[in-house]
Amino acid sequence: MKLSKNALQLLNARYLLKNSEDEVIETPEQLFSRVAKYVASAENEDKEKWEDRFNDLLTHLYFLPNSPTLMNAGLPNGQLSACFVLPVEDSLSSIFTTLKNTAMIHQSGGGTGYNFSQLRPKGDMVSSSGGVSSGPMAFIKIYDTATEHIRQGGKRRGANMGILNVDHPDIEEFILAKTAGDTLHNFNLSVGITDDFMETVQHERDWKLMNPRTKKIAKTIKAKKLWDQIVSQAWATGDPGLIFLDTLNKHNTVAEIGKIQSTNPCGEVPLFEYESCNLGSINLSKMVTLKEPEGTAVDWNKLERAIASAIRFLDNIVSINHYLLPQIAAITKNNRKVGLGVMGWAEMLALLNIPYASEKAILLGERIMQFVQSKSYMASAELAKERGDFPNWKKSTFHPNKHMRNATCNSIAPTGSISVIADTSYSIEPLYALAYKRVGILDNQTQMEVNPIFVGKMQALGLWTDQVKNEVLNTGSIQQLEHIPKKVKKVFETSLEIPWEYHLKHQQAFQKYTDNAVSKTINLIKSTPKETVSDIYMTAWKYGLKGITIYRDGSKADQVLQACHLN
Ligand code: ADP
Repeated sequence: MKLSKNALQLLNARYLLKNSEDEVIETPEQLFSRVAKYVASAENEDKEKWEDRFNDLLTHLYFLPNSPTLMNAGLPNGQLSACFVLPVEDSLSSIFTTLKNTAMIHQSGGGTGYNFSQLRPKGDMVSSSGGVSSGPMAFIKIYDTATEHIRQGGKRRGANMGILNVDHPDIEEFILAKTAGDTLHNFNLSVGITDDFMETVQHERDWKLMNPRTKKIAKTIKAKKLWDQIVSQAWATGDPGLIFLDTLNKHNTVAEIGKIQSTNPCGEVPLFEYESCNLGSINLSKMVTLKEPEGTAVDWNKLERAIASAIRFLDNIVSINHYLLPQIAAITKNNRKVGLGVMGWAEMLALLNIPYASEKAILLGERIMQFVQSKSYMASAELAKERGDFPNWKKSTFHPNKHMRNATCNSIAPTGSISVIADTSYSIEPLYALAYKRVGILDNQTQMEVNPIFVGKMQALGLWTDQVKNEVLNTGSIQQLEHIPKKVKKVFETSLEIPWEYHLKHQQAFQKYTDNAVSKTINLIKSTPKETVSDIYMTAWKYGLKGITIYRDGSKADQVLQACHLN
């Protein structure tokens, strides 16, 4: 197997099995065969055939499942899912039961999301004690502190998504939560937004905050004022993001069993309370073929084969996963949601000589994801024939015409760690720089690397010189080099050189064909004004995105999305 130095380091530190002396006792090949064997054990027939096929998929780095599957598959009680949502009801018992369950999920490598909007506001009456309530923020801080102290099997810190709906009386405190210095490192915060609120902002009308316990209006404020607070905070710190609750529920395939109130930590999977989901991503940088006379082209056949095997792989995990709680097992097995996505999109574009900031890239993005979705649905329908529909199928939007094994098939995850293992670009993000250290992944031990696809292209063009190498090692960019042709520069624009409009259009292109959601960060240069953040958040809603996150270069908080992966 060919693995990069950084991939080997990461695998050594966190994925390969160790003995009680903390010595690594498996090779990367053994890791992949452990995973393939375990996942194939779910098959009724031809176990060996499937084991080989899964092993092939993994060792070629065509597809990788989420980290907990790589870490835990085949181990006693191995918990394999990355994504969970847990309930938070308005009682101390519920709050602390969920905190306990959170600890267990984090320890196993999963991340948790919650909507705190059912909690009565700060200062509200508590009849049992005769006192007053601490409010959602106090409990979010407790969750954050607990997370800080539960290292995931000594491997990484946990990650959480905290949502508070825009009509909760404590929403202003929530919006400002990350200004108060060094707090809430283990949370992404998102305001739960409704279409009603967005229209109220547009018309600059009054907005009512409601006490969830009494259902009485607690306060009336100008919607625009609340919007400006959200925008200012996001501009200053990156948080809060937005979650568009009505859009989530419009696309809820099992709406009959209830409303969805929350997503997992990075936003790519809307889930019911206690529901979990397994993710996996196809490496698009490996789905490009040499073709004469054009040079390179998308290898649709290879992509199709990878999708069908990957959906089967993820469906198998639902069957053979070890669930931490009976409630998680029940709803997860009834809906059998999986989230197949992609990584290496920017590298695929570079291999095809298509600039990220171009209409051609947007159109290809749509085509690719439409293909991934339709082939995923075909694979799921095939599995339904073989193994039966998901148990809640009769309550789903698929009933009665379309048989399906899984209530959802696709999510675009950030692929924070697995893209390092696959040595490709993150998710659908543009290249962050042409030379970089994967800083933070392993306490700065990682190597400085120049993107190999960039080097290959420059060599082919006869442009790979010491001058170019030094420039990219120093600045990460080739935009200031006068002798490089414009066309080449355009293909190698990096994240902060790409206008926000194109970041957003890529998110939209992939969201169009993703039944769950797309996790993406709209990276902005430091001088970006607040009005742009407002435009981005408003456009995200109009585009029908399910959520939105921005990060302005150099703003003060840690970039939580990165912090998730980098700790
Ligand atoms: P990976 O590359 O490790 O498989 P991703 O970066 O694609 O993971 O993230 C997918 C999901 O995994 C996240 O949305 C979140 O639910 C979970 N996750 C990611 N990082 C962490 C973490 N440090 N702790 C807990 N869960 C995490």
